[in-house]
Amino acid sequence: MIIRFPHLVMSASLVLGSFVCFAQTAPRNGDPKLTEYWDPAVRIVTPGKTNADPPSDAIVLFGGKDLSKWKSEKDGSDAKWKIEGDALVVTGGTGGILTREAFGDCQLHIEWRTPAKVVGESQGRGNSGIFLMGKYELQVLDSYNNRTYSNGQAGSIYKQFPPLVNASRGPGEWQAYDIIFTAPVFYENGALKSPARITVFHNGVLVQNNTTIWGATQYVGTPNYEPHGAKEPLMLQDHGNPVAYRNIWIRPI
Ligand code: MG
Repeated sequence: MIIRFPHLVMSASLVLGSFVCFAQTAPRNGDPKLTEYWDPAVRIVTPGKTNADPPSDAIVLFGGKDLSKWKSEKDGSDAKWKIEGDALVVTGGTGGILTREAFGDCQLHIEWRTPAKVVGESQGRGNSGIFLMGKYELQVLDSYNNRTYSNGQAGSIYKQFPPLVNASRGPGEWQAYDIIFTAPVFYENGALKSPARITVFHNGVLVQNNTTIWGATQYVGTPNYEPHGAKEPLMLQDHGNPVAYRNIWIRPI
């Protein structure tokens, strides 16, 4: 049976569900097909062998070989960061790198490693960052036995929200973020219609749970929203520390 208005069926199901909460003895006879909907079918995606491997519909932004999907934030030229083995290493002073493609709502997997040799402290130790849409920073930092301000440690939405827990591995160990990002939406006049939201798993542990982002990341002062496109490039930050990245893939939603 084809249901042409599945949302109406779902609404009806919710109403029915609410009713059942109050009336456990309500009769359950009639046609069970009324609460089924078949179209559209759920799209099939072949999962990777592990949760870290890119699934079949992911865009691989860095797979260990080349930087063709990236450019320099400074002048749009080819990205200058080094490739060492299968890792991409921040080359201090060359600036951040931007994806050539722009993204809005997305699922992002990214692995990162702070230097095994611990140098510096607080914000100076293994600092980089993942800027969704080039504007909203999910902090990358060596936060293993390294106290800093809580809303500036690994897993924080920088200068806004600390992570729910510190799930950091030690320096020199590979770590992963799995991110679900909802882009902000602006009215035509530039006013904010709906803010950005983010869910983050750090090494498989939930650290941001559908967090509402206050605005573009600011080092000084309070964040605020400036209107921008529905899709913007992803940026990785050059904070001067040789942080490594690998296995970066994204699924636009
Ligand atoms: Mg940073």
